[in-house]
Amino acid sequence: VALRADSIDTTRSGQWSADPGFGVYVHIPFCRHRCHYCDFNTYEKADALHGPYVDALVCAIESGASVSGRKATSVFFGGGTPTLLSPTQLARILEAVGHSVGIAPDAEITVEANPETVDVASLCELRAAGFNRLSIGVQSLVPSVLAGLGRTHSGERALEAIDAGRRAGFTDINADLIYGSPWETERDWIASLTGVIDAQPEHVSAYALTIESGTPLATLVSTGRVPNIDPDIQADRHGVAGTLLGAAGYERYEVSNWARPGYSSQHNVLYWCAGDYLGFGAGAHGHAGGRRYWSVRLPRDFIDRVNAGSSTEAGHEVLGPDERAGEALMLGLRLRGGLDVGQWIDLYGHEAWSRREATVLDFERRGIIERTGGRVRIASWAALVGDAAARELL
Ligand code: SF4
Repeated sequence: VALRADSIDTTRSGQWSADPGFGVYVHIPFCRHRCHYCDFNTYEKADALHGPYVDALVCAIESGASVSGRKATSVFFGGGTPTLLSPTQLARILEAVGHSVGIAPDAEITVEANPETVDVASLCELRAAGFNRLSIGVQSLVPSVLAGLGRTHSGERALEAIDAGRRAGFTDINADLIYGSPWETERDWIASLTGVIDAQPEHVSAYALTIESGTPLATLVSTGRVPNIDPDIQADRHGVAGTLLGAAGYERYEVSNWARPGYSSQHNVLYWCAGDYLGFGAGAHGHAGGRRYWSVRLPRDFIDRVNAGSSTEAGHEVLGPDERAGEALMLGLRLRGGLDVGQWIDLYGHEAWSRREATVLDFERRGIIERTGGRVRIASWAALVGDAAARELL
């Protein structure tokens, strides 16, 4: 299916779209070391599984392509740490996506990387393989903050990774940051932001730290060895990010994401537009036409199932029309450009809107939601709390 050029333009500008394209997510569930705050589906000390996992992933992609029938407008290799695999292995997986699913000519193709796993040579190989967007896990540039988070790289190494990406030919680089950890001062946060801004990535994602149960950080907090996070401080830090990034020419297009004009993440926007995407790999989720599915979480199980010729799906749910409408509204409100109410009604029907209109009006009255020119969005001040409020629209 030929890709409409305007669907790419729309999503690159970070705007809500009724036609946000079609994505592919590939999960690489390996990390060199588990960070203290992490609850992602990732495993350390599993090097022996890397080769068999790549073989299984390629096999799953080649046999799962019939689900789609559309070409991908965005491909995202996430983890875990995808760059723990060799560039050759990542290239092989991407090639399988290209052959089996198909990738649109202007597609955004992202690979996540941790600073200590890349250099100019490896990034040149990834660029040559077709990856055109690099997302570096910087998190902080301050040694004490990195140590508290359990990160194993230095701030200097993170900046070197951005520079290496640039020298390898990446023209679309994201830096991931985390703010609001209990041991971070405002001065630390400003130092991280200004250091990253000086490195001039096209895109910055800045997320408030959350304490996820089952993580070492959760244990430290529950036993009183580390103070809990303070939501007011996190709200202040979000404001500081907005001020500094805004002054440096970045526009916030979603609650936690800033980009230079034209560099919004097409793949992320697809998620917020409730678009369809295939998910490949251990624990990966996918969504197509209201059917959401997820794979078995353990890499060993994923490999065994593929090798046995069985499905890797661990479960699925089918959303009803009204559930899809509510979810699309809740997600779309996160985008700063706002969700187009008229187009949303075209997709989901007047009845779905009528059922939610009173709640939307109530949120407008309380200033949580803003409406301009037929579009609705979460108000700037409510960025960190609006998501919880918007759940009432489900
Ligand atoms: S690098 Fe990312 S995925 Fe890996 S353990 Fe740290 S936070 Fe989790």
